[in-house]
Amino acid sequence: MAEYEPIIGMEVHVELQTRSKMFCSCEVAFGGEPNTRCCPVCLGLPGSLPVINERAVEYMARAALALNCTIPPQCIFHRKNYYYPDLPKNYQISQYDFPLGVNGWVEILAGGKPKRIAIRRVHMEEDTGKLLHVAGNRSYVDYNRSGVPLMEIVTQNPPPEGLDQIESAEEAREYLQRLRQILLYLGVSDVKMEEGSMRCEPNVSVRLKGHSEFGVKTEIKNLNSFRSVYLGIDYEIKRQIRILEQNGEVVQETRRWDDERGVTVPMRSKEFEQEYRYFPDPDLVPLKFTEEWIEKLRSELPELPMAKLKRFMSDYGLAQADAEVLIDSPELAEFYDTCAASYKDPKTVANWLTTELLRLLNASGKKLNETRLTPAHVCGLLELVDAGTINRNTAKAVFEEMFNTGKSAAEIVRQKGLEQVSDEAAIESVVNRVLEANPNEVKRYRAGEVKLLSWFVGQVMRETKGKANPATVNKLLREKLES
Ligand code: ZN
Ligand code: MN
Repeated sequence: MAEYEPIIGMEVHVELQTRSKMFCSCEVAFGGEPNTRCCPVCLGLPGSLPVINERAVEYMARAALALNCTIPPQCIFHRKNYYYPDLPKNYQISQYDFPLGVNGWVEILAGGKPKRIAIRRVHMEEDTGKLLHVAGNRSYVDYNRSGVPLMEIVTQNPPPEGLDQIESAEEAREYLQRLRQILLYLGVSDVKMEEGSMRCEPNVSVRLKGHSEFGVKTEIKNLNSFRSVYLGIDYEIKRQIRILEQNGEVVQETRRWDDERGVTVPMRSKEFEQEYRYFPDPDLVPLKFTEEWIEKLRSELPELPMAKLKRFMSDYGLAQADAEVLIDSPELAEFYDTCAASYKDPKTVANWLTTELLRLLNASGKKLNETRLTPAHVCGLLELVDAGTINRNTAKAVFEEMFNTGKSAAEIVRQKGLEQVSDEAAIESVVNRVLEANPNEVKRYRAGEVKLLSWFVGQVMRETKGKANPATVNKLLREKLES
């Protein structure tokens, strides 16, 4: 059987989290009453004039730099002309031959191995309105989204020397996740795929291994989650290989992912490149950037997620899986970083945060910055465990209490009298009591039912309200049961 290799191109649109739209002062927000956040500019009424949102340009330039792009000294807005009911001006203000950023890359880990995915361009544009199709062949349009600042990020296939391209559904998903992380760290977008503030349209082609020519590609639309991106691309790769193996021909077309059926279905053929009659928007002047402005933005970039991931692994000795969990949100990463820098054992802190903290955050539906937990509280708790003041089980309860009340561990332990009992004599008397009260279990243990040990430990812990030193309890129980 011939061996095929897939090549995947990614076109990603990201809505920016600015306060106002790209070319007018209407508010940017998700949802809400339809057609309440629009004005003559974003409704495309005759005679209205666009004004460029400076903050949006700054956000996109930051993103372009974080994606390792070059920002040319000048960029130009073009009109991309086409008719569609969600586009009231009959053109979209976008960029054509002078985009904001060019020739960048995003590092991904493909099965743990680093790969630099080439980015051809990052350009600025505006979002369209939103169509709502209802039963009875009727459609409504909501222009609240019309004119929201939009950034388009396009990969480059084949990649230039030294860079890579996306070659599997896993890599496509990984690319998208890394992109999302970067934009989240920059604070330029909330990058929610489920709300459409991050949207991705991959194109997929397949060719015989070793061939340099690309196969015919199809584009996939309607992918609303990382999962559907993976499944849609994977399905499309397999569908195309099946066609080629039967000596068929892949048709160049746009296909829609049907999440319920788990298949892609044809939407429209794409035999001809649509003619958009691009021309520079006469209402907007070219944007010119000084070297100083670009360098200032570059110097203000935060440490990016991939750099943080590598540092957490090398400096704190974390496994990749744990480091990934910690860097996934910038708030959690910073929280961990502060803890790990001041506590002697960064791996133990990572453990507590990835298990207890995430469990409590999930259960309460809170974000980290909505709780009153501080890094100092976490370190204080671990130091109490190290000093033998409390045992691990008590520490879990104290952690939850800190999470809920914002009190320090020492304060909670003192107030609730949770100090661990390590005094052997005190524990021994409880052990004796438990053994005397349960002669049957003692007999069974001595007859070989050794798994009863943990039951005895449980009894002693209950008697001591969980405060007994577990190692001492185990030791004493064993001594007495086996004597
Ligand atoms: Zn407006
Ligand atoms: Mn676009």
